[in-house]
Amino acid sequence: MPEVQLSVIIPVYNEEAGLAALFARIYPALDALGLRYELIFVNDGSRDRSAALLAAQFEQRPDVTRVILFNGNFGQHRAILAGFAHCRGERVVTLDADLQNPPEDIHLLLAAMDQGHDYVGSIRRQRQDAAWRHWASRAMNHLRHKLTGIVMTDQGCMLRAYGRNVVQLINQCNELNTFIPALAYQFAQHPTEVVVGHEERSAGESKYSLYSLARLNFDLITGFSLVPLQLFSMLGMAVSLLSGLLFVLLAGRRLILGPEEGGTFTLFALLFLLIGLALLGIGLLGEYVGRIYQEVRQRPRYVISAILEHQP
Ligand code: UDP
Ligand code: MG
Repeated sequence: MPEVQLSVIIPVYNEEAGLAALFARIYPALDALGLRYELIFVNDGSRDRSAALLAAQFEQRPDVTRVILFNGNFGQHRAILAGFAHCRGERVVTLDADLQNPPEDIHLLLAAMDQGHDYVGSIRRQRQDAAWRHWASRAMNHLRHKLTGIVMTDQGCMLRAYGRNVVQLINQCNELNTFIPALAYQFAQHPTEVVVGHEERSAGESKYSLYSLARLNFDLITGFSLVPLQLFSMLGMAVSLLSGLLFVLLAGRRLILGPEEGGTFTLFALLFLLIGLALLGIGLLGEYVGRIYQEVRQRPRYVISAILEHQP
């Protein structure tokens, strides 16, 4: 079988409304590249007709299409990991099914790879998301950079290209909750970023609620940094030191000035602040411990119910 030059991986979750438009654009875009490619759709347990649409599309283009069907919803990143584990291409591109990033821009990523980069991230030219998401993501970018040292201008954009070496390293990682672009960034030798187009979702609605976005960011931070835990040890030391000084001060006043009254409410304010900090610290500890618990159980990351592919 001729070697595959490009694998394109698309996770699909309840995208029945947009799949027809996706098929209509992605195949011409990839045909135009003039490469031997394969298109891998990973159906992440959709509850709508997505799986049937993918199967029908597989019948149309069995030569270049492969479909991996999950038997439940395991999340976008695990869907992409399944694609990584099964892809054959020298280069691998990931893309969302909602056409927010134009498939016609894939050639920009490949051009950057031609220049010797083994990981190409992307920056959305013009964000079309709601304003609060815009600000939240800027704040998050700053925090992530400080905590993990990972430079990613636009972490929400999944149109990215990975070299085979990076994909192989990612395939060796067994962690359950991960953030693929950050993992790739750590493994890549010459990462770079290019600017790509960005549009409104073509159909259907975003699968990420505010809650799941927050979860994803916890995965990102806890998966790549111990700094939050270390900050709390530092904070604990600082607070102990300060309260030690306060004790010396109060003891001194007691000896010199005799018994004093007052300050009860200041004490409460201080106490509540410290209780709040302690709870935050325990919660943070819980984030890490919970992840350790998930990892030690060693459950499968995803379960594949079927793979539709053309056997050469
Ligand atoms: N997706 C998935 N599993 C999920 C949630 C999302 O495979 O549990 C897919 C979804 O079908 C889409 C991509 O991940 O192809 C990105 O999702 P979405 O566009 O909803 O995210 P947003 O662009 O709003 O961040
Ligand atoms: Mg989207």
